[in-house]
Amino acid sequence: MKQQSPSKEVLCRELYTKTGYVFAKSPAEIAAASGFDEVAMLGSNENPYPPSPAVLEAAAAALAAANRYPDPKAGEFVAALRRYICDHPVVTSGLGMDGVIETVIRALVSPGEKVVVSTPTFSMYGLAARAASAVVVNVPRAADFSVDVDAFIAAAADAKLSFLCTPNNPTGTVTRAADIERILSGISGVLFLDNAYVEFCDTDYLPLLQKYDNLIIGRTLSKVYGLAGLRVGYGFVPAWLEGPYAAAATPFTLNRVSEAAAVAAVADTAYRDTFIAHVRKWRETFVREIPFPVLASGANFVLFDVAPMTSNEAMEAFARAGVLVRSCASFPGLGETFVRVSVGDVWENERFLAAVKRL
Ligand SMILES: *Cc1c(COP(=O)(O)O)cnc(C)c1O
Repeated sequence: MKQQSPSKEVLCRELYTKTGYVFAKSPAEIAAASGFDEVAMLGSNENPYPPSPAVLEAAAAALAAANRYPDPKAGEFVAALRRYICDHPVVTSGLGMDGVIETVIRALVSPGEKVVVSTPTFSMYGLAARAASAVVVNVPRAADFSVDVDAFIAAAADAKLSFLCTPNNPTGTVTRAADIERILSGISGVLFLDNAYVEFCDTDYLPLLQKYDNLIIGRTLSKVYGLAGLRVGYGFVPAWLEGPYAAAATPFTLNRVSEAAAVAAVADTAYRDTFIAHVRKWRETFVREIPFPVLASGANFVLFDVAPMTSNEAMEAFARAGVLVRSCASFPGLGETFVRVSVGDVWENERFLAAVKRL
């Protein structure tokens, strides 16, 4: 008879048996439980509309050449970014901005070195830094979720790499460009500015790239451009980082289909601008009509406080009403009572507003 042996799970790093990325609950699970055919998908800050016909056509055409490796430098995408967004050294990732974050950490940070994160925020910075055996230092935001600039500078002054998200996920908070500038001149290392939602706000951080050679701006096609399913991210980086980033990256970052789609998406400014206008309009409606304290947001979502209910209780109540929102209980430093809701399609937003008023 086979001997009962202890589980080989002990071979895994404890980091991955005990923690990991928390995904939004699957809509299929919720739909099945709630009896709705279609669930309002307002939990992941996606664009609710499919890519434009130009993007679908470009992607389909690229698929026909899938037998060939893609361009390792994603040259056409880089050219499109430099033409349509900012003429500055740029790096790309076929694993979304998540992949840019991982590669930047790999290029800069050795085991045991300090990585500073402004919290509460997106979990990926801490997860990727710990995966690289870095020491993560969290710097809490003020009570209104604005960045405590002095505390951030004090913690980050001697760190090689620090992370700040603006507009911040999940609070929606926009940090003033002047505050970012003060941080950039107050630290000796690199600041990674996560601009996943920047297209939805009024602040432009790109001019800072001209002035500071310790700034990385991370961006994504997952939100405003509607390509979350293709995993395309990019970053504007100082020129000195371009070579080491390429050396640290997994080869062939974008694939042929995602690159072709991304080039067409960036060129389709009408699709982007229409969605931005839709988000701004509905974001105001959400702030006005949600009968709970709501934070001002520069993103395509808002955060509201359902106390004395907990965020998990509220999320389940929304699910029963056919609406998928994000319970923010998993964001360290945020407490147990915040819910994040994305701006979706009109019927989704209306179903959400009806549900939140009955909560
Ligand atoms: C969605 C998101 C990203 C990255 O998304 P990708 O799909 O990996 O490009 C990065 N940062 C924040 C704050 C996000 O919310």
